[in-house]
Amino acid sequence: SAEPAPSPTVRILALANQKGGVGKTTTAINLATALAAVGKRVLLLDLDPQGNASTGIGLDPSQRGRGSYAVLFEGASIADVVRESGIPNLSIVPASVHLAGAEIELVNADDRETRLQRALHNIGSTYDYVLIDCPPSLNLLTLNALVAANGVLVPLQCEFYALEGLSYLVQTVERVQRAYNDKLQVEGVLLTMFDKRNSLSEMVAADVRAHFGDRVFRTVIPRNVRVSEAPSHGVPVLLYDHRSAGAQAYIQLAGELLKREGAKLG
Ligand code: ADP
Ligand code: MG
Repeated sequence: SAEPAPSPTVRILALANQKGGVGKTTTAINLATALAAVGKRVLLLDLDPQGNASTGIGLDPSQRGRGSYAVLFEGASIADVVRESGIPNLSIVPASVHLAGAEIELVNADDRETRLQRALHNIGSTYDYVLIDCPPSLNLLTLNALVAANGVLVPLQCEFYALEGLSYLVQTVERVQRAYNDKLQVEGVLLTMFDKRNSLSEMVAADVRAHFGDRVFRTVIPRNVRVSEAPSHGVPVLLYDHRSAGAQAYIQLAGELLKREGAKLG
């Protein structure tokens, strides 16, 4: 029988920025949870060998199986390796320890940039959203995510060097668009760890908005201690303290994303 076509409505979003510590994983976990909470069927795909998204969702290493590594290297389907998160509507493809060697293994592999795209092509209509948490590098793992994605979300920490290196990320997105994936674009830039008591945060935000215009989400994620505490409890901040400013911001982000996409579709 023919391969199932990808659902026309599935949205595959890569959380990418080659800088570490800017909020990729935090956003992947909490945006996924907020989308799931409004009834979207969400798959969180952990593509970072550090496995922070898998840990942050409360998945013990013994429960992870071979995860995204098996999808890239062992011909596993998403359905073969997916795990339930314990949160309704939210599933996860974990990162396992095997992924640490993946970058080197990919260098000489066939179809080294398109393996994830091929696997995600077959997920059918199981999910409304796939959020891919990328490693802090523009390596072959991140390239696989970009090739597979419909859109890129770029978390930017509100600090002095926020924009540094970003032109290289944008160039990479454009290169992937030309070579593999003509629909790919930077769908949104998200300001994270915003500190309203610090005028530098305001300056950086203004700078980023001047540069990226309306691609910057109106929603800004504040620096909030509850956000940073939640991962050590193995739950998204939405479950850890849903009244916190951080949780509320991620709920607002999900609403803004859904509204944007609705406008785009139609
Ligand atoms: P990345 O995945 O880009 O490396 P993380 O999402 O892991 O970044 O965030 C880096 C660190 O900052 C983590 O310790 C995380 O808990 C913390 N952090 C992220 N967002 C916030 C926030 N809004 N407020 C406070 N701490 C945050
Ligand atoms: Mg991370």
